[in-house]
Amino acid sequence: MASIALVQPMTTARALRGPFDYRIPEELRERGVGVGSMLVVPFGRREMLGVVVGLSDRTDVAEDKLLAPLRALELGVPVELVALAEWVAREYCSTFARALALVLPPGAARRLSGRRRGARTSAEHVALGGTGPDAMELTAEQRAAIVPVLTALEAGRHERRLLHGVTGSGKTEIYLQAAAAALAQGRGAIVLVPEIALTPQIVTRFVERFGDTVAVLHSRLTAAQRYEQWRRLREGTARVCVGPRSAVFAPVSRLGLLVVDEEHDPAYKHEGDPRYDAREVAAERARAADAVLLLGSATPRPETVLRARTSVIARRPDGRSLPPVRVLDMREVSSGLHPETEHALAQVRAGGGKAIVLLNRRGWSNFLSCRSCGQVWSCPQCDVALVLHRAGGYVACHHCGHREVAPASCSVCASTAVARHGAGTERLAHDLTSLFDDGECPVFRLDADVVAGASGAPRAAGAAGAEPDASRAEGVARLLARFAAAERGVLVGTQMVAKGHDFPDVRLGVVLDADATLRFPDFRAEERTFALVAQLAGRVGRGGEGAVLVQTIAPQARAIAHASRHDSAGFLAAELERRRALSYPPFSQLVRIVHGADTVPAARAAALAVRERMLDALPGAGATLLGPAPLFRLRGRERQVLVLKAADRRLAAAVVGAAVHEVASGRAHAGVSFSVDVDPQ
Ligand code: ADP
Ligand code: ZN
Ligand code: ZN
Repeated sequence: MASIALVQPMTTARALRGPFDYRIPEELRERGVGVGSMLVVPFGRREMLGVVVGLSDRTDVAEDKLLAPLRALELGVPVELVALAEWVAREYCSTFARALALVLPPGAARRLSGRRRGARTSAEHVALGGTGPDAMELTAEQRAAIVPVLTALEAGRHERRLLHGVTGSGKTEIYLQAAAAALAQGRGAIVLVPEIALTPQIVTRFVERFGDTVAVLHSRLTAAQRYEQWRRLREGTARVCVGPRSAVFAPVSRLGLLVVDEEHDPAYKHEGDPRYDAREVAAERARAADAVLLLGSATPRPETVLRARTSVIARRPDGRSLPPVRVLDMREVSSGLHPETEHALAQVRAGGGKAIVLLNRRGWSNFLSCRSCGQVWSCPQCDVALVLHRAGGYVACHHCGHREVAPASCSVCASTAVARHGAGTERLAHDLTSLFDDGECPVFRLDADVVAGASGAPRAAGAAGAEPDASRAEGVARLLARFAAAERGVLVGTQMVAKGHDFPDVRLGVVLDADATLRFPDFRAEERTFALVAQLAGRVGRGGEGAVLVQTIAPQARAIAHASRHDSAGFLAAELERRRALSYPPFSQLVRIVHGADTVPAARAAALAVRERMLDALPGAGATLLGPAPLFRLRGRERQVLVLKAADRRLAAAVVGAAVHEVASGRAHAGVSFSVDVDPQ
């Protein structure tokens, strides 16, 4: 009986669907080639890397056409990750090959070309050293939160749990002790964090507690170091993996615990194909492994509250309360800073301590216009205004990265009167520097422009796109270290300043233009705004006294009012009510299909064709199809969007996938691009 491997070639070509059949010779069978094995196979006139996704004893391929692999790689992918990739492909309307690429060892394709073969570097984990402090005595609330986790672990039962604990309530200690319990059972753990560079503390604590058992997949690793971490996990020398969203695919075997820290963070959504949500992938992986999924946040998402069993930690172990928050009404104030904000900042400067000021907009001015003829400088590729970056001397599109030299005069009427509107972090840092920096109270700026540094390709606005590259991570770490070491100082920046870092001596937190995020036409606008304000408040007063000021022209807005009272439960209850009334997630599932083309009619025709097919396939009840509606032009492409609201995600994804595939593979809509986003963020 022949042994046939169904091999999925690793290629990004959507047309090449696979899998394809190959004969497994005796010699490879003896070496244990099976599902998950990585093979180099002949494919046409090329060699390709493939992953075995199934075994069979029959094939439709004629005996003499059936080829054998050229060789097998030393380490393959665990079987359960092949299954997970299949799930990702189906769930997010992608291809099996693209989903498999997520679970392959880092640099697999490159190693195939023979340039390097698993050079073993140990630089990173030698420095990590041995085990440090022991587990802490938990508070009563912490104990109550960890007991159900331990119980489920002991029973080998899957559970989805939410740890809803205020900032600084000791969530990390619970993750550590839960991971220790998994290890004691001979099982492994994965801990996801939104962005390692912004939260180095949690990594340090895992390494201190578990030493060499931890593999950290941070972005400063070289390709060789990255592979080395992967290999240590695959071979079982490392049993705990800490990393960003992609670590949800780490080859940890016998997984017992999957932690998602700061589960509200949009960074868990991957914006490339497949557009996966690491929190959903984590849930599926934990389910399949009978592992415990533990999601933690001070500002959890409404969907998590609804779907997970919740433990609340309302008090910090040291008994310190959250800082008082004052909402400052800016409707009558003409300057950028409210007098109270100025006063509070002056006090920080005079009396020591530090302040964090959040303004969620990069650059100097939001847009430029001509005072004579009114022209607004906008991107030639996108229908958006260009943002002035004064120090760099350029204006930039925050959506596509287009840049041009900052204009000295109007290109239409030649007037030299160019007006600058609005302010971003660059301008704010400049203004605060001239106001406060007397040499002893320096102003630090943290945003994507600063940390991208000289190499800096500007990142798209609000992008949770690519995971940050090495130089960016380096820049963030250095900047945060400088702020931490300073005697006094003001940290100014975008939402990056509200992430999980922990400075004991921050006495003042300020949010400027707090309602800016509310103005996004997005059903998550409220949730985002609440999280931003509440998370910033959580950074303040850890070492004692503290206060938070929130400037807004919408002081009554629910998200801002609840955040100012630290009332997470109240916000969630009201937000869930609103979502239910409007039948937004989690009371429905959304799938967004964006059709891009050179002209509006071409994009619209494709959208209508997809819509037509979907209407045929949709079950009458419980599904609504909205659109096509125009989106602003991006990168020279006119865009039309369809949104499907449905009760069942799996079904919705299947219907969308089939309709898009049919329209995309026909000739009528050549030149149209289709992008499917299940669970858009
Ligand atoms: P979170 O992850 O919820 O923001 P952390 O785990 O960072 O909170 O804990 C905040 C602080 O409280 C840390 O300094 C931590 O060492 C301390 N801590 C946590 N649990 C305890 C405990 N049971 N007893 C004393 N201190 C604790
Ligand atoms: Zn003009
Ligand atoms: Zn653009």
